[in-house]
Order: sequence, then structure tokens, then C-alpha cells
Amino acid sequence: MINQPRNRILPNKNNILGILGGGQLGKMIAMSATKAGYKTHLYCPKGDNPAETVVNSFTHGEWDDFDKLVEFSNNVVCATSEFENIPSKTLELLANKTSVIPNSKVFRSAQIRSKEKEIAEKSGFKTPKWYLIKNTDDLISASKLMENGGILKTNSLGYDGKGQVRINKHSNLFEIWENLGSVECVLEEILEFKREISIMYFKSTDNSDGFFPISQNHHENGILRKTIAPAILNIDDERDLRLKTKKLSENLGLYGILAVELFELLDGSIVFNEIAPRPHNSFHWTLNGCDNSQFDILIRTMCGLPVKDVKSNGKWEMTNLIGQYENIISETSKDQDYILYLYGKHETKPGRKMGHLNKQIS
Ligand code: ATP
Ligand code: MG
Repeated sequence: MINQPRNRILPNKNNILGILGGGQLGKMIAMSATKAGYKTHLYCPKGDNPAETVVNSFTHGEWDDFDKLVEFSNNVVCATSEFENIPSKTLELLANKTSVIPNSKVFRSAQIRSKEKEIAEKSGFKTPKWYLIKNTDDLISASKLMENGGILKTNSLGYDGKGQVRINKHSNLFEIWENLGSVECVLEEILEFKREISIMYFKSTDNSDGFFPISQNHHENGILRKTIAPAILNIDDERDLRLKTKKLSENLGLYGILAVELFELLDGSIVFNEIAPRPHNSFHWTLNGCDNSQFDILIRTMCGLPVKDVKSNGKWEMTNLIGQYENIISETSKDQDYILYLYGKHETKPGRKMGHLNKQIS
């Protein structure tokens, strides 16, 4: 863990930044690094990896191929991961060789829902009522305590709404448990919310820190569809949210960036959903809406460059292109105000994030 300010890493031919994971987040991290004059080296398993087209070099390897990981770590001055479910063993191994930001404890906490909820509660956040479910007996008894129905979520490895099922008093709990793979889960109450929001905090290895403006998010079937930002919260609520987010980051020993997903309930109270210690889809609007995007700020935090609060240059809307996108881009391409990011994935699948559009709305 980094406690002391460290030397700044400035762009030069020897300072290669390591990126773990070859998806769209890895691609946009690499593009920011390149813009700032850094060289990049990507490590990812073989596959449909959009990031490969924009890095200086890449290594194909599995997350447990320790020889290849050591070789990768010898080649980079620091590394970050775009892939939330990266095994913490992989990050610990890399941390012995190079500086890994955020650290493995942050990733391990984000990977286990019960753990992230406990740390959030310790940091002052409210969470939905939740129970750890280890077997069907736990599920049967906890489901009786869910007056408005519940959501059963696998305790690890969920994303984009995968690995979760809504249950009510008519549900066949045995079947649902089996369909989720009979693995450890959490059951949480379904909240009726006014809106979903997210906040992003960042801390550089020189110990300076800051926030992005808040995003307001609209999900469909568990997948983010649209973000509008900045979202307006009253000053006291925003101050309180920032304090709790900072506390949470301190409890995790965070350097790098951290997104927190939240629900704003009908009575105005704010409830924690989950964290992501990496660039977050709900901050893709910052690519155009801010002087420094979330990817630019991640690079600054890794390199020990000073950071501060980021302001927006107006109100922005980000729309995800999910699954078949051709018709949408055929229409929006007629209007220059739609700024298109197409990730370059080879295969289009229903529910797969293929790109996004940013548009200034005021
Ligand atoms: P991702 O990592 O892509 O954000 P995920 O698969 O980890 O998603 P969650 O963030 O837990 O899943 O849930 C996805 C969406 O489902 C939420 O953004 C929200 O719209 C809805 N949801 C999740 N939990 C609840 C809840 N307790 N009450 C109401 N809606 C919920
Ligand atoms: Mg989520």
C-alpha cells in the first residue's frame, strides 16, 4: 500500500503503463494514456479484445499464468485493471513487482457483494435490507422477511444484471437457487426508488483527491441504458454523500478511481448499491463533458500527478448502444451533436455493450 507520496511518473519511452483487461474500458484507458504521451502494454486472455488495436504492445495470457504475468510486470512502471473480477491473487503477484492501482484489497471487496455492503455500512452508508444466503434453508427463511419481494444476487461474479433473479411469494425458490448455480448469494429487498445515481471519487498516489459531478442513471433489465449528468442533489446531501464515499475509500485504502452506485429513495434518502474500482459506464459522458475524463484522471492518479475536483462544461446525456446498433447510428450519424464511440467488438450479441453516444443537452 502507498502511504508516502511517490515520484511522479512522467511520459517517456521507458514509462510503460500496464492495463489488465482488453475490453472497452481498457481501450479508453489506453487512448487517454496515449493522448498524454505514455506507452501502454495490455495483458488479457485471447478473445474479442477491442483494446488490442490502440495499445503499443499486448500479451495474451490467462489470469493464472504467473510466468507471463511476471514478464508483463517487469515491463511496466505501474498497472491498473479494467476487469472487475480479476482474481486478487493475480493483483497480489503483480503488486510484488510493480505498483498496482487500485490495490487488490479494493478489488476483492468489490467482487464480493456481502463484503462491499459491510464496508459501506461501516463507512456510514445505508444499504437495502440484505441477508447472506448459503443454502435453500437460508433462502426460505430470508425470503419470508421481504415484504415487497427481493432480489437474489450471486455473491460474486455478477455484472450487467447477470446472476440475479427477482423473487416473490409465488417463486419456486429451489428452482431459482439451482438456476443460479447453487452458489453463495445475497438476498436483498427490492427498493422503490426515485432515481439511480452514481458518484466517482479519485485519489492520486501523491495523496491529492477529488470528485466528478454526480451522474443520474437509467437501467433496463439490469443494464445501464442512459446517463444524464451532472445530476443535481441538494448541497447538504451531496456533502454527506462525498464524506461517506471518502470514508469508504479510506477504509479500502484506495488509490485510483472508485465509482459508487446508489439509489435515491422516494423520501430523498440515499442508499448504497455497489462499488466499482475502475472506469464506470455512467461516467463515459466525461469524455466530452469534462476537461479531464474519468480515463484521464485514472492515468493521473496512477502516475502520482496532482488531481482536484472536475467540473462539467454543461449538461450531457450518454446513451449506451446495446446489441444491434446499426439503425441507431444510421439515424444519429445525421446529427453532428451525437458523438459516437464504437468499441470495435467483432461480435454483436443481445445485451452486449457495443458502444455509446454522448450528446450535450444544455
Ligand atoms: P453492474 O455491475 O453492471 O452495475 P450488477 O449486475 O452488479 O450490475 P446491480 O448493480 O446489483 O447489478 O443491479 C443492476 C440493476 O438492478 C441496478 O442498477 C438497479 O436498476 C436494479 N437493482 C439492483 N438491486 C436493486 C434493489 N435492491 N432494488 C431495486 N432495484 C435494484
Ligand atoms: Mg450495478
